Amino acid sequence: MKVHLTQYLCENRHCIIAVAWEDSDQRERIESMMKAAVKWMGINPWCGLCGSTKLHFEDAVTPFATLAEANESLKVCEAAQAVTREVFSQLPKTN
Ligand SMILES: [Zn+2]
Repeated sequence: MKVHLTQYLCENRHCIIAVAWEDSDQRERIESMMKAAVKWMGINPWCGLCGSTKLHFEDAVTPFATLAEANESLKVCEAAQAVTREVFSQLPKTN
């Protein structure tokens, strides 16, 4: 088994939301849950960086076999994204 990372990206590859998961047979269910999460969390259905409304899913297999194995790397990435989100939240909005 491999850990997948599914991202919801704009056409310029800016990530709106991402989910790591283990079971490769559940991609459609994961994408459906991500769309529901975007609505539930009140996330705008466009890119906050470039304003694009052309969003799509992209899935990739990570080098990790389990979420436990991937956890440290995911936490480092999550922390970096939180810093980026905070920096951009301080800038004037173009859209
Ligand atoms: Zn974008």
